[in-house]
Amino acid sequence: MSPPGPAPTGLDAPVQYLKGVGPQRARLLERLGLVTVRDLLDHFPRDYQDRREFVPFAQLPLGEPGVVQGTVFGVAAPRRGSRAPVQVTFRDRTGYFTATWFGRPYLAQLFKRGQRVVLYGKKVARDRHTVLEGPEFELVEDDELASIHIGRLVPVYPLTEGLFQRPMRDLLYRVVEAYADQAPEIVPDAVRARRGLLGIGEAYRAVHFPERPPDVDVGRRRFAFEDFFVLQLGLTLRRRRQAAERGRALAPPGALVARLEAGLPFRLTAAQRRVWGEIRSDLARPVPMNRLLQGDVGSGKTVIAVMALLTAVEAGFQAVLMAPTEILAEQHLRTVRALAEPLGVEVAWLSAGQRARDREAALAALRTGRAGIAIGTHALLQDAVELRRLGLAVVDEQHRFGVLQRATLRGKGERPHVLVMTATPIPRTLALTLYGDLDVSVLDELPPGRTPIRTEWRGEPARERIYAFMRDELRAGRQAYVVCPLVEETEASDLRAATEMAERLRTGPFREFRVGLVHGRLPLDAKDAAMRAFKTRELDLLVATTVIEVGIDVPNASVMLIEHAERFGLAQLHQLRGRVGRGSARSYCIMLADAPLSDDARRRLTAMCETQDGFRLAEIDLEIRGPGEFFGTRQSGLPEFRTGSLLTHGRLLEEARQEAEALLTGDPGLRAPQHRALREALVRRWRERLELASVG
Ligand code: ADP
Ligand code: MG
Repeated sequence: MSPPGPAPTGLDAPVQYLKGVGPQRARLLERLGLVTVRDLLDHFPRDYQDRREFVPFAQLPLGEPGVVQGTVFGVAAPRRGSRAPVQVTFRDRTGYFTATWFGRPYLAQLFKRGQRVVLYGKKVARDRHTVLEGPEFELVEDDELASIHIGRLVPVYPLTEGLFQRPMRDLLYRVVEAYADQAPEIVPDAVRARRGLLGIGEAYRAVHFPERPPDVDVGRRRFAFEDFFVLQLGLTLRRRRQAAERGRALAPPGALVARLEAGLPFRLTAAQRRVWGEIRSDLARPVPMNRLLQGDVGSGKTVIAVMALLTAVEAGFQAVLMAPTEILAEQHLRTVRALAEPLGVEVAWLSAGQRARDREAALAALRTGRAGIAIGTHALLQDAVELRRLGLAVVDEQHRFGVLQRATLRGKGERPHVLVMTATPIPRTLALTLYGDLDVSVLDELPPGRTPIRTEWRGEPARERIYAFMRDELRAGRQAYVVCPLVEETEASDLRAATEMAERLRTGPFREFRVGLVHGRLPLDAKDAAMRAFKTRELDLLVATTVIEVGIDVPNASVMLIEHAERFGLAQLHQLRGRVGRGSARSYCIMLADAPLSDDARRRLTAMCETQDGFRLAEIDLEIRGPGEFFGTRQSGLPEFRTGSLLTHGRLLEEARQEAEALLTGDPGLRAPQHRALREALVRRWRERLELASVG
């Protein structure tokens, strides 16, 4: 349904308004997401062919793809029912050549003697001849000899079934001719001059119909910058709006924190002290904190969180701590209770699965203000939990919380301070994009006394030896994990694999030990019971699915065996490994994976063996997977860019950020007339994602 009102014009006009686009083609274009003229302009070529000069077929190197031109000389159609290819003989400047197509008998009717054709394909050897095998082709009409299809660099577009390259190129040519210069210029002239960027019309022409190969990169660079620039403007605006918000200054004398520190069995690391300093000064300001705490697994984030929670409580406010999974939330509950309750601070527990009576009691404690701290999962966030005075929210493992959820939380009650913690190290370019509106603290030091985790990658034949080694460790009083992957799509089969594994180990190689099982489908109390039993050393070996991935802390566990390690992502493997090596004993991570392995799997396992540095692994992961998949685009709020890549355009992203800062310093509300198009673009692209309600 189209909205009422005048028909849209210009770039917003639907594609049907274009000559040569009827309802049928419009439907095909829509399949590619191309609805308006603007969409077409932004439909960039996936490749280019150099048709400035055609090489005679004879000079085309064997085994390499190339573009040739020829005139149809003869057509050999296969007999009906035969599997032979259609063979077409062409003549070019220096002789004859043949092209073959398998499984496309209808092509025999298409080529007529004398027809000129441009072919793009690979030259291969067949029975003492060389042929072009299954080339892409375009028929050349006589009046187009000097047209957009011949004698130049030609764009090759992403298509969908039923759409063809040549009409698509015709369409884009007309659209670029008619509309490229109508596109609003949103990057200010001064910025373009400083950064050496093409104007918008020129850039569209360079990307779609380049005159020389370098034009393509120059054009693309401009769009990459534009997309980054708009994003950084949005993030910077939001950050500034947050900085202008009034919040509560939480600046108590610090008695609770002092007492907490005095009771800890360890001294804070220098990194913990520095990070705590940053958080404490944020809390003391009457502006809501919006900070990301990054720290590799085991770097000691929890105690920092507790210090922040206690500070809020001492200042007379309530504080919440949220985790993405029940198990992790339960573990936080135990840790925080052990630390806070001796100081006289009551901790309330909220979870989706708890009994109504317990929930009522917890809510009552929070409503009356008796409980200072609340701990739970997302349920805390989603339900209308009534807190008397919410001063601080701590969110563990942020990458599972979307950008929108963070905003929901901030909108609740009294604009609380927000501290987001993550053990997923984020490369700087990505952090700038994802969290451009957050301040970042980094715990870059592990507590002392940790020995490196020996990581090995083994195949099935080593299984018995690995079990023998694990038995030795267990006999020495240590504990071990065996991790099973998600085998198939369904949780049920995941559960079966883990259950069978536990049974096999319990009755076989680990008969003499106590073997437990924990997986995502267990009822809460069973899960909790198993985890607690492992923590209190009533179990020696724990078979688990990836529910143990985040946060579980059992310092006595010294061995982890990962089954089918090739099925895990790199970030996941690193998180899993972080479950061992948390005490002072030497720890081991053994990854079982058998050939044949994909290249990517091989790279992941090799990387795991080579380094334990989470930031390095995150970079490798980004290289292997590309930024879109790094977190899952939708979940993370990572925008899609037309041409920019976070990998190759890191510098450009940084430049875009500087320019965005500078622009907003001069024109904080983007009110200047010359920034109108920019403001509109910002609203159009990012309003929902970034909640820029106050812009526009
Ligand atoms: P993570 O950052 O992965 O959440 P935790 O907060 O769970 O790490 O800390 C990991 C372990 O290190 C816990 O057992 C914790 O008590 C311990 N720990 C934290 N800080 C220190 C420190 N400064 N010295 C020694 N051990 C510490
Ligand atoms: Mg943690």
